[in-house]
Amino acid sequence: MAPIPFKSTAAQKGDSHYDLIVIGGGSGGLGAARRAAQYGAKVAIVEETWRLGGTCVNVGCVPKKVMWHAADLAEKLHQANAYGFKVPSEAAQVDWPTLKHKRDKYIERLNGIYERNVEKDKVEYITGHAKFADKNTITVVPTYPENKAHGGSDIERSYTADRFVIAVGGTPTLPKDIPGYEYGFHSDGFFYLEELPKRAVIVGAGYIAVELAGVLHTLGAETHLVIRHEKILKAFDPMLQDTLQDHIVKTGIHLHKNSNVEKVTTEVENPDLYKPFPKTIHTKEGEKIEADVLLWAIGRHSLTDDIGAEMIGLKLEKNGDIPVDEYQATNVDNVFAIGDVAGKALLTPVAIAAGRRLSNRLYGGVEGDKLSYENIPTVVFSHPTIGTVGLTEPEAREKYGDDQIKIYKSTFTALYYSMMEADQKEPTAMKMICAGPEEKVVGLHLIGLGSDEMLQGFAVAIKMGATKAQFDDTVAIHPTSAEEVVTMR
Ligand code: FAD
Ligand code: NDP
Repeated sequence: MAPIPFKSTAAQKGDSHYDLIVIGGGSGGLGAARRAAQYGAKVAIVEETWRLGGTCVNVGCVPKKVMWHAADLAEKLHQANAYGFKVPSEAAQVDWPTLKHKRDKYIERLNGIYERNVEKDKVEYITGHAKFADKNTITVVPTYPENKAHGGSDIERSYTADRFVIAVGGTPTLPKDIPGYEYGFHSDGFFYLEELPKRAVIVGAGYIAVELAGVLHTLGAETHLVIRHEKILKAFDPMLQDTLQDHIVKTGIHLHKNSNVEKVTTEVENPDLYKPFPKTIHTKEGEKIEADVLLWAIGRHSLTDDIGAEMIGLKLEKNGDIPVDEYQATNVDNVFAIGDVAGKALLTPVAIAAGRRLSNRLYGGVEGDKLSYENIPTVVFSHPTIGTVGLTEPEAREKYGDDQIKIYKSTFTALYYSMMEADQKEPTAMKMICAGPEEKVVGLHLIGLGSDEMLQGFAVAIKMGATKAQFDDTVAIHPTSAEEVVTMR
């Protein structure tokens, strides 16, 4: 069915009045703004930096995946010898400054593409920091001088709108109570690093810690991962935690379990914080770890402390997230929140989908459109990669009861490693969780070569409610790792 065009009346209320103002030019904000404008709404997007695209494009998914590919190539160059190639070990040394320069240029190109896309969709791009003055008005405060080249003003301006979408995302958390914490940096800083450090310490056990530890280790840094509990990736299925944890330790990442940083010291005076310099990480458990780079990866928090929430009575959670209902509505009737700031499934495709569906509903006449947060597939770009969708085994047992759950597993070594010695082989492990007498697949957890690319198609089947019998009924593709998913016993 063709969409019903939205009849905008905003222009009659003045040049600086909009049907919709979106605050934040990241994944979610761009998704909501462009979709609303495509239906005919008069839309503005306010972004405080001059780099449209948000976390994902500038300091997240995209530059991270470039670095993962570099690490993957380094691994493959080493492994090529097992296939009879003669690759000298220095050939697998990355030229970090060259790679960083090319990566930065690529991201600048993406920023330009986003800017052209909003222009094409007739979304007005306003640079500066937005905060609410009242429920129909925001003030935009000038931020960076670079914004001027992107139409930014150097005076404070006000804009009004019928509706607002808050999509301000989040920022990495720093442990400001730890003396010397400032000798380390967070994931944004990782992308400023001009050279590969010789020794790196990463604190944290989540996505970012595991992914960046994998990159640094694979590219050749002595890498220490400091985790405060027993296991990495707390929210993931235990099979994934154990397989990855055992493997990273086997490959030489130094894992410091049940370990908490007490202080960080350095003898370097006035160090350049984004360059490697020697420092000591002291743990409460009495360890001293020497490093050139310290990366805090202890989670993120929403950027809501300075958006004028108090001016409109907008409710915030204690951690700064904005509580929303299933339609992304906040407690203020014309204000919506999407993406990381809404605190659920902090992933780019989630932010985009929530934003687009909200605009479909508000401006496209698609009644009831909303994002379901069930069965969201996700990948950890570790070495090897993890792909996971649905419930973990403990969650499934809790939800359905032990007697309603059937678990299928497979562990093997991918054919790719058949030419290699044992110490070069990566594990593959798969777990399918089925519920009820019909054995509906409620969880699928994969780790091993290709799991990142393998999961998407299976996630479609699971979203459609596929059963184990339907997986079994699908003819396998041979020889692949994915075939195991349809032949598990
Ligand atoms: P953001 O993309 O953070 O956008 C928010 C924007 O709002 C920013 O541009 C910010 O400058 C702007 N802003 C903030 N406050 C204001 C204000 N008051 N006024 C105006 N503008 C403002 N997700 C994946 O799906 N896959 C991955 O592989 C992946 N890798 C990641 C790797 C790292 C290192 C990190 C940090 C994140 C990663 N993510 C990944 C998560 C993903 O980046 C986020 O979920 C996604 O960017 C959230 O989009 P958003 O629109 O909610 O916020
Ligand atoms: P996560 O929530 O994944 O992990 C935060 C980690 O910090 C946890 O392991 C937690 O440990 C640890 N932690 C919290 N406080 C402390 C502390 N005081 N001292 C030591 N450790 C601490 O956050 P990330 O920052 O890694 O990533 C943010 C989000 O971004 C992710 O949740 C994910 O949604 C998204 N992301 C997605 C990626 C992808 O799709 N591939 C990649 C990167 C990010 P513990 O487990 O012990 O509680």
